Order: sequence, then C-alpha cells, then structure tokens
Amino acid sequence: MPFTDDHRRDHGRKRVPEGLCHVCKTCRGAGVPHVSSFGHRSRTWQGGKFRAGLIDWGRVAGNGTLPVHTAWRTVASDLDCTVGNKAGELAMSTMQAVMLTAPGVVEQVTVPVPGAPEGDEVLIRVTRAGICGSELEGVVTKSPRRKPPLIMGHEFAGVIEAVGPDVDTARWRVGDRVVPNPLMPCGQCRTCQRGRTNACPNRILLGLHRDGGHAELAKCSVRHLHRTPSGISDDDAATAEPLAVAVHGVRLLGEAGVLPRSIVIFGAGTIGLLALQSARLAGATTTVVIDRDPHRLEVASRLGATRVIDARTDDGSTDALGRLALEMTDGEGFDGALDCVGVGATRAGAVRMVAPGGTAVWIGSAADEIPVRGMELVLNEKRVQGAYSYTDHDFSAALGLLAAGRVELTSWSKVYGLGEGASLFTRLLTHTEPCIKALLDPRG
Ligand SMILES: [Zn+2]
Ligand SMILES: [Zn+2]
Repeated sequence: MPFTDDHRRDHGRKRVPEGLCHVCKTCRGAGVPHVSSFGHRSRTWQGGKFRAGLIDWGRVAGNGTLPVHTAWRTVASDLDCTVGNKAGELAMSTMQAVMLTAPGVVEQVTVPVPGAPEGDEVLIRVTRAGICGSELEGVVTKSPRRKPPLIMGHEFAGVIEAVGPDVDTARWRVGDRVVPNPLMPCGQCRTCQRGRTNACPNRILLGLHRDGGHAELAKCSVRHLHRTPSGISDDDAATAEPLAVAVHGVRLLGEAGVLPRSIVIFGAGTIGLLALQSARLAGATTTVVIDRDPHRLEVASRLGATRVIDARTDDGSTDALGRLALEMTDGEGFDGALDCVGVGATRAGAVRMVAPGGTAVWIGSAADEIPVRGMELVLNEKRVQGAYSYTDHDFSAALGLLAAGRVELTSWSKVYGLGEGASLFTRLLTHTEPCIKALLDPRG
C-alpha cells in the first residue's frame, strides 16, 4: 500500500490496521474507491468459542469519506462483531462513545465493542468516567499527543464484563468493581527500576495512546487494575486518578525534605482542590489557594483553605502575593508551592512565594513557558520539581483516602449522561457549564 507509512504515522500506534480505516487523515484523503482485499482483523465470539474474522472496510465505505459513526455502525451490523463473557452470553455488538474524531473535534459515535479480552486483559463495563482538564486543553490546542480517532478518558471505574484467557479467575471475576490505573509503564527500563514509573519513557496511557473510558466498554490488563474499595461510590472511584496526581505532587514536597506545613496552591480546578485536601491531610496547617474563578475559590474555602485569593484583583498582583507570603509565614515564605495551572505566571509565582530552601512543584501543563529568574533559585536555594501523574503507590494511596472518606468531591462535581459527552466538551471549553469536575455515566 503506497500510504502505509503515512497511515502508521497518523495512527501513531504499534498495531496499525491493515488497509484503510476510513477514519484517519490518510485514509480519508486516499480516495481509493474500493479496497475489499484489505481489512481489519477482529475476533468474534460465536457458538461458545472465538473465531478470527476479517472486517471488510472497503465493502463498508468505498470512498473513504463516510462519517465515522456511519461507517462503524454499518460494519458492526453487517458482520456481527460481538463480544460475550465466559458464559457464552452474547452481550452487544456496538457501543456508544465520545470520540476525538479529528484534531479539535469531539463527537458522539457508535462503534463496535472492543474485541474480546486477550491474554491478561479484562473488558470493563464503565460506570463512571471523568473529563480531565488536560483533555479539554488537548482538544482546544489540537495537541498532537492525542491522535484521532481516539476514545479519550483516563479517569474511569467500572465492573469486569469479561476476562481474557490468562486472567487468574480466582482473583478477578466477572462482576468485580475495578479502577484501572491508566498509566502503564514498561517496568523494564532504568527509570522504572529506579521507581520513577510515572516518568517511564515507554509508558502508555489509556485514553491517550490507547482507547480509554469515555465509552460503555474499555479494556485494561489486570496488571494495572485496582479493586474498588467497598463502600465508595462510582464517582469517588473514577476520581482516584486525579487524586493520585495531587497525592504525588504533595509527596514530592516531602521528598525534597520539606515538611508541608504551609503551602500555596495555584489553581482551584480538580487537581488544585484535590491537592488542597491532600496537603491538609499531609499536615499542612496554612494553605492559600489562588484562582481567577470566585466559585472555585468559594469551594476551596469550604474545603478548608486558610485564605483564598482572586488572581484578578489587586490582591493577586505579584507584589501583593509576595507580601502575603511573608505575612502568613512569619516573614519566611511558604514551605512549598503546588502549581496546578502550568502557565508562566503561576510557575513564577510558585517559585517566588516559597521560602529560601522551599520547593515549588509544577504539576500543571497548560503552557511551556518558564519565566523564572535564575538568581532567585541560586541565591535562595529554591527547588523546582516537575511532577507528572503518579506511581502505582500514589494510586493506591488515593484509593485509600477515598475509602477512608477523607476526600470531599460531591459538592463540586456533577454527573452527566455519556450521550451528552460531546456537547459537554463544548460547554466546558466555552465555560458555559458551571461545573468544576464533570463525570460521565455511560448508563445515563
Ligand atoms: Zn488527567
Ligand atoms: Zn519503563
């Protein structure tokens, strides 16, 4: 095929469909009228056993220009690509999903269910899936990190629907409530062996490198599965992922030898509010939260922030924040800062407000600027620590905090049906949906 290399690049995945997928840029532009000799391999569950099959995409969408959902719906109904559980029960052939169909475009689609779980994979019926700020940013900036067509969603929880042949069924059973840790490190490289699995250069993130949880069903290896603690809600379970990000950021303050007694937090979105709660649980008694949204600041106040600052007012000016840092800490500055925004101003503010020897942890990744004065770091021995996602230990810690009822989420999150997921993306991006944390319910 003359377009194989472009095709592979568009998909950006190791397993590239053989032939036209009619979805990626190359296939859409290929203009090949009929390619019935090429197809996508699938496995179907029929008569109590799996049968390898070949989906004839050429027959389905001859000119490669059919809308995504139309092509998929036709494939599924033509060929009965189905999946069932071990009991041999046919479940469904298609599912609803919210999909990044092109850079900057999120659509509601009907797609075939994922293939039956292979090896140590399980198929998960998603019960709740969060929309992450990084996904909203990725859509609006048309970030090349997420390559369409892609089902996003790295914050999700669900119930095991089917298990692969290598899964220990004494441990994992159909019906178990589970939370996948979507960050899958290789476990082999030097970075992994040093325990920095979150920074593994070979890591794979569900919802970014592979399809994630903004759908009725998703697949995950049991190696990355956590059991949902009994007694916690689906909302809480799906929030384990962003809470793990916050826990990781607070833990990095501790690793730098700083007792997190006084902490300033930039940003009162999901990560900021979870970081505030994590910091207080870790012993911080003085916490300041800075944001531009009065509603978010009100929530931060209710969650125990000692002081909240509206960045749009005079109190949010560089000089005023500098004075506040000294006033609130007996003239020393904060022990630590957590930047949960990630633009130049918040990164610089985080560094400026910590005491000599203090640590600024940069979690947010909204921009790529570093307007920090070098001498401020050198003369004051301030540390800047980048923070990316979490280790599996952080993930367990987050689930533990949720199980213990130590994290409040209900008052600032809202559940929406999966069917309004695409329009919800638009409303969140245009700030017309007054919600801090949006969660999708595929059953809604
Ligand atoms: Zn996220
Ligand atoms: Zn690795």
